[in-house]
Amino acid sequence: MALMVYDTFDAKKKEFVPVKEGKVGMYMCGMTVQDRPHVGHMLAFTCGDMIRRYLEYKGYEVTYIQNFTDVDDKIIARANAEGVDYHVIAERYTKEYFKYADLLNIKRATVHPKATEHIQDIIDLVKTLEDKGFAYASGGDVYYEIARFPTYGRLSKKNIDELRAGARVAVVEHKRSPMDFALWKGAKEGEPYWDSPWGKGRPGWAIECSVMSTKYYGETLDIHGGGEDLIFPHHENEIAQSEGATGKKFVNFWAHNGLLNLVGEKMSKSTGHFFAIEDIVKEFDPDVMRFYLLSSHYRSPMEFSRERLAEARSAVGRMANTFRAVEAFIGDEKPEGSLEGLGDKDLEFRKKVEERVNLFGETMDDDFNSAGAIGHIFDIARDANLFLKGEDTPAKKLVLSHALGRIKEMGDVLGIFRGIGGEILKVEDLPLEARELVEERAKARGVKEWATADSIRTELAAKGYFLEDRPGGTIIRK
Ligand SMILES: [Zn+2]
Repeated sequence: MALMVYDTFDAKKKEFVPVKEGKVGMYMCGMTVQDRPHVGHMLAFTCGDMIRRYLEYKGYEVTYIQNFTDVDDKIIARANAEGVDYHVIAERYTKEYFKYADLLNIKRATVHPKATEHIQDIIDLVKTLEDKGFAYASGGDVYYEIARFPTYGRLSKKNIDELRAGARVAVVEHKRSPMDFALWKGAKEGEPYWDSPWGKGRPGWAIECSVMSTKYYGETLDIHGGGEDLIFPHHENEIAQSEGATGKKFVNFWAHNGLLNLVGEKMSKSTGHFFAIEDIVKEFDPDVMRFYLLSSHYRSPMEFSRERLAEARSAVGRMANTFRAVEAFIGDEKPEGSLEGLGDKDLEFRKKVEERVNLFGETMDDDFNSAGAIGHIFDIARDANLFLKGEDTPAKKLVLSHALGRIKEMGDVLGIFRGIGGEILKVEDLPLEARELVEERAKARGVKEWATADSIRTELAAKGYFLEDRPGGTIIRK
């Protein structure tokens, strides 16, 4: 079955055919590094990461580009409030992003370009748009003239005339039309600036995405991701800029993730802090968090609540129990043997596992349906639990071990179940730094300092070591 991907622009699923054979160019609008990452940000990045991992699993060589907007009004405002340089703010929250991306098992992008490191490229693109008549300089700013790009509004299915009527309240004196958007902003007193043909200033928000996607992949991207909230005006602006400059189609598949609905008053941004990833991982395992984020189809809206996270935790717990039970059944010795020695029941079980693996692929091929795909992984676990009962034969151990391997493999495609089924390590086999953390945690648990113990556990997970406390002691997996 061919991979089918929904494209927001054409508003339908289409067969995925990349621009360059065997390769995929994917762009993800990254963070404006002005605050701690919250669950809404990380939902988008987790969905993007899942899509990328699946494309890699299918054998594509993926160039994954995710930028950092490291200069912007909010960053400057925060820097002024704290009395520091804007760089300090940008660097602080860039680090925070990487910390929580690691915890949520979000792979590093192929390239993480920063706006401030591409100022000359940005100026060049603005200049091109000005030369081609899409942009005009006015009062130290440069604006994109929407009227010059007749298909503006097609991605968001908005009617330009209606938009124009709605935007009238926000008329800026330098603009020809209220809908025109800034490509370059003249610097105000006390703001960071760069010299340009239009005087001292800094880039508008959308221009960097057009620059970086072309620079690091090409004029046409296969997939462009981001939250639904970015469709208008951000992505609409990216299209106008890129297609205005190149005359070519900018993106073949716009993959927008649905947004989070916060449930319960404590979850709201204004009253609670649970929204920040930093706080959620104090209460829930990052693996549970990732599982939860992928347990709905990426385009559906998601309900976010402690109850939903608790459900995800029990689901992950059920999978861990299956591994525990099957591993105990198999014992310490790795089962060996070939298909020839298998009885009918063993063969039948193995065949069912393989059918479910195929279903996993078919489901993922249907617009990256991770929710459905996870269901097929759980079906294998359920079958394995049933198959476990009864007599104990080497052939049975062999097929069950194969089933666990398949679960692990599919889990890896989605980046879930990291702490389940990994190789069990002894404390003395750990690198010194990790060993010290494990010992520190044991001490904290000894004196019932649970919060400290949990935060060390999270720190170890970020390094790829997963701890599971059992009555007989703590198990460490890699
Ligand atoms: Zn963008």
